[in-house]
Amino acid sequence: MPTSSEKPLDEPYGLFIDGDERVASNDQTLEIIDPATDEPITTVPAATSDDVATAVETARRASDEWQDTRPKERSRLLCRLAAAIREDEERLARIETLENGKPLSAARTQVQRAARHFEYYGGLADKIQGESIPLDGDHVDYTIREPLGVSAHIVPWNVPIYLFARSVAPALAGGNTAVVKPAEETPLGALEIARLADSVGLPEGVLNIVPGDGLEAGDTLVGSPEVDVVTFTGSEATGVEVAKRTVEHVADIHLELGGKSPNVVFPDASIDHAVDETITGIFSNAGQVCSAGSRLLVHETIHDEFVDELKRRTEALTVGPGVDDPDVGPLVSEQQLQTVTEYLEVGRAEVGEPVVGGETLDGAGYFVEPTVFDGVENDMRIAREEIFGPVLTVIEFADEQEAIELANESPYGLVAGVFTENVGRAHRFARDVDAGQIYVNEWFAGGNETPFGGFKRSGIGRENGVQAIDNYTQLKNVCLNIASRD
Ligand code: NAD
Repeated sequence: MPTSSEKPLDEPYGLFIDGDERVASNDQTLEIIDPATDEPITTVPAATSDDVATAVETARRASDEWQDTRPKERSRLLCRLAAAIREDEERLARIETLENGKPLSAARTQVQRAARHFEYYGGLADKIQGESIPLDGDHVDYTIREPLGVSAHIVPWNVPIYLFARSVAPALAGGNTAVVKPAEETPLGALEIARLADSVGLPEGVLNIVPGDGLEAGDTLVGSPEVDVVTFTGSEATGVEVAKRTVEHVADIHLELGGKSPNVVFPDASIDHAVDETITGIFSNAGQVCSAGSRLLVHETIHDEFVDELKRRTEALTVGPGVDDPDVGPLVSEQQLQTVTEYLEVGRAEVGEPVVGGETLDGAGYFVEPTVFDGVENDMRIAREEIFGPVLTVIEFADEQEAIELANESPYGLVAGVFTENVGRAHRFARDVDAGQIYVNEWFAGGNETPFGGFKRSGIGRENGVQAIDNYTQLKNVCLNIASRD
């Protein structure tokens, strides 16, 4: 297997079904493009509806044995997979950079997070316990958490390896088998991890990967009556369609959707620290992060100083191919470049020239300068819609009440952040702002252990933490009458 930085890929790739790799039933393929160069990297088979049906049947067949596998054995296998991912960290990171574009050091972090996820849920696999419920002396009542069966996972392209792990790890830990449809742009990481899973002894059929088109492979997967639970991570519009298809056959659904998260800076915050965190919050992964801090709300008394410093540090950010480990890599695809370019024009029409950035880079690849629009009003499109690119909107506020109102005036509610040294204010913000996760004095705070998911149109359900096990188990109550009938 090649391990050098020049050739991280272990080609050729196949659909991963029943522990085996195969071509698509009609030989169709997806071309994978390097977003830094616009050059093809490789091809992978594109699953047809028939291939997806085969993967689901396989997962169904493997389900009974996996459910009956002792939890401590499931635990061991997931921990072994975590170790294998760690061992292969550098190569997997290079693959993530190659297909997604993100800077290499950011890709390494995501691979570590994926390994940590399998470790975390490996640790939980043998601690999924029920409760006993007191009734009266003649009854014994208890609950059991049972696997749902076949889990389906629809994964987006922005953090492909970690988001694959985020839902697959708790699903397998809970005793479910899995069929995964990675994004068209970035299927390689999932295929590589499936091979690692095979190498550590995960039974055949427990994990199946079907790269392919959303409207064909994705739709067939979520519409399959043999699928018991669907986890969808992606855009709101697709999420709604996926939810409808899933409900038609009465399966469980978890939706992890978009955001337009407010990052609120009060005058008592450390400006230096808040500027750094603001830059991390919006320019990491070229802004292609669901929990990006894309709406900066800054108090009017520090606005000028803050924006000057933000401009200075944003201008200093390096932009380039992910393999060179710059601050900001390319966008994932030509289509995403077009979307972000259109929003730059919307921003210009709404507020005029950005204070920094605003241009795409000449030459190959899908590069956009880190961009800051100042003087934005909260009802403008660039403040309401998820741009999913390196574009920050700056809005002024006068007092705490206005800040909270502006923070909440959004269709989304994924995360929200506040920078303040006033502990009462931090708690009031956490109490009053409608978001699934609140950051205080740090963007992207929390980790694998902390629940993550959206209020409002940002989704349904929570990933991460102990409670994600609930997503992949169903509760059974057992009630016994033990009264003597002698
Ligand atoms: P997308 O909705 O276009 O695609 C996501 C996935 O859905 C892809 O694998 C795609 O092939 C598949 N798909 C498309 N149509 C389908 C259909 N009809 N049936 C089944 N599957 C289908 O989203 P995207 O542009 O790839 O991802 C970006 C979006 O994802 C942003 O809105 C971002 O905020 C969101 N996101 C959310 C989280 C979160 O945890 N909340 C994390 C990452 C990304």
